[in-house]
Formats: sequence, C-alpha cells, structure tokens
Amino acid sequence: MMTLYAHVAPLTDVFGRHLRSLRVSVTDRCNLRCRYCMPEEKYIWLPREELLTFGEIRELVSAFTALGVDNVRLTGGEPLLRRDLSELVRLICENPQIQDLALTTNGVYLAEHAQALRDAGLHRITMSLDTLRADRFRALTGRDAHAQVLGGLEAAHRAGFRGTKIDSVIVRGVNDDELADLLEFGKQQGAEVRFIEYMDVGGATEWSMDKVFSRAEILELLSRRYGKIVPVVGESSAPAERFLLPDGTVFGIIASTTTPFCRRCDRSRLTADGMWYLCLYAQQGTDLRQPLRAGASRDQLTSAIASAWQRRNDRGAEERKVQRFRGVFVGIEQLRQDPHLEMHTRGG
Ligand code: SAM
Repeated sequence: MMTLYAHVAPLTDVFGRHLRSLRVSVTDRCNLRCRYCMPEEKYIWLPREELLTFGEIRELVSAFTALGVDNVRLTGGEPLLRRDLSELVRLICENPQIQDLALTTNGVYLAEHAQALRDAGLHRITMSLDTLRADRFRALTGRDAHAQVLGGLEAAHRAGFRGTKIDSVIVRGVNDDELADLLEFGKQQGAEVRFIEYMDVGGATEWSMDKVFSRAEILELLSRRYGKIVPVVGESSAPAERFLLPDGTVFGIIASTTTPFCRRCDRSRLTADGMWYLCLYAQQGTDLRQPLRAGASRDQLTSAIASAWQRRNDRGAEERKVQRFRGVFVGIEQLRQDPHLEMHTRGG
C-alpha cells in the first residue's frame, strides 16, 4: 500500500493546528539538577532496553516527516549524554524532508562534540543558560560546570554554528536581576537570548505562581533599562514572541505560563523510549515503540500517528492558566510512579 499522507494537504488536529515540529528526547538522563526541572538527586530512569536505537528513531522520524513534519529538535534529559549523538544527526539529515534539525543542550559537553555535530549536519543549537555567575549556576544546577558551559558556546561558534539561541528560565528572586546582563552577553556572543517563564510542568515540584517572573515584568524591566521595546512583526508557530530593542537587538520571550501559545502549537514530543505526547501537559501518550518493535510497516505507523493527531484537542497551558488555585501540576509521588510525566523525559 502507498503511504497515504505523503505530500497531501497538511495534517490538522481538532483546532486546525498542523503537525510540523517534532521534539525527540534521546535520553531521560541529565548531568545537571536544575531546581526548576530536576530538583531531586535521584530519579527512576527509563529501562535501557526500552530506549529507541538510532535506527528506530530514524524510522519514527521518517514516519513523521511523511506526514508533514519538517523540523526536528533533539533534546533530553541532556542529549549530549547519549553516546555518538552525531551519528543520529547524520542519519536524520539523510531525510530530505527535514528543513531544520536543531539541538537543545545545557552545553556542559558541547565543547567536546560541537565539531562532530556540525560535520554531521546539525543546523542549529539552542543552549540553556540561566545565569552568568558561576556561584549562582552551582546553586541552581547543583553542579560546578559554568565554565564548561561558556566554553561550549564558544566551541559551537568556532565549529561554524550561527543563529545560536540562549534560553534562560527566569525565576523570581533567583536570576531576575540578570536580564540585561544576559542580553548583553548574548549580543557579545552573537546569540539571540530567549527568556522563558517558569512553568508548572511535571518535574517542577518547587513551582509556585509567585516565583514566575512574567512576560509583562520582563518587558517593563527591560524597557526601563533600554527604552522603547517593539514587537517583531510576523506570525510564527515558534514559541517565542520576539522583540526589538532600540539598538537593534532582538530577543524572545516564551511566556507559556501567563500568555500560552496553545492555539499556534504545532509541536509534539517523542520520548527516548518511544512514547509520543501531543502536549507538554498531556497525562497520556501513544506508545510507538511497541508497534515499531512488533514489525509495523511505515503505513501502519503513519496511520497511528495521523489518527492520534487528528483527535488532538490539547491546550494544556491555556487550561492551566484558568485554574483558580494553581499549584504544582504533578506531585512527586505521581512522578515517581510514571517518569513519563517528567519534563526531563518529555524533553522540554
Ligand atoms: N538538557 C537540555 C537543556 O538543558 O537545554 C535539554 C532538556 S531541558 C528539559 C529543555 C528546556 O526545558 C531547557 O531550556 C530548560 O531550561 C527548560 N525547562 C525545564 N524545566 C522548566 C520549567 N519548569 N519551566 C520552564 N522551562 C523549563
């Protein structure tokens, strides 16, 4: 049977959103313990034998691209903990439907891998960096690796990566005094900085609304320092709204907590063990590993993916926003029972 969905009208969900972006988590393990994501020292990891092989990831990515996905982001956990990641990059780049292949990393091991990733065909890197202060980095992540992260950013530039982004989660009372410093640092590095509101996703067991430094506050603080800030026009499905400073610097804000972008959300997430989630807040996913390992054909996989997407009506961040009493989304006991509910398993 021919693949029914290739090159036909874009696949849409219940709200008319296209299936376009796929985030692939290649490991649930991470070498940092960021307070807003993985505050515990110990976690229950996905069983190793259940992790998708590179060949399996390639096969699933191909099923998605047959349905219209054209941009893929490798994430984790920390994706650079997965051995030979550049080999996976090379395999995915062989797929002619991929327009954009990006990596989200905490940068700790980036210096060692930047050149191999570039040579393998990786297009872009987003690096998470919440502070420019080494002592604060240690307090926030539980690890003494700030210099390695900064070295990783430089190595990425040396390896030829351009258009690098720096993502900073801003938590009130933790790093909200570094907004301008981070922007200035981004300018020096030729990297666009994006400020992320603290989200109450699974894993964020220390979350509370009063710790969220909002989009409105970010804009107010930065306009006091820089003058008039104007939005960059142009509709996009990208999560960040982009803004322009008077000196021409562009930065982004990902305001999932106070200004959710569910109505434009075209992304879904594949975990390292092949569970597919249609929303960061979804409690249930679709197991794609099981049919894949049972020998499902490409058409059977695309049919399963297409029918799940067509039923998609998730708008988790919007639903969270209207909750009257908003606390931690998933408690620690529930997270221990199902690690798939963790942000580090879903890939952020
Ligand atoms: N280890 C990689 C990294 O640090 O970029 C990739 C995985 S990490 C889960 C992906 C992104 O999710 C990071 O930018 C991280 O800051 C963000 N993130 C994790 N927990 C978050 C939360 N509670 N609120 C907002 N962003 C969060």
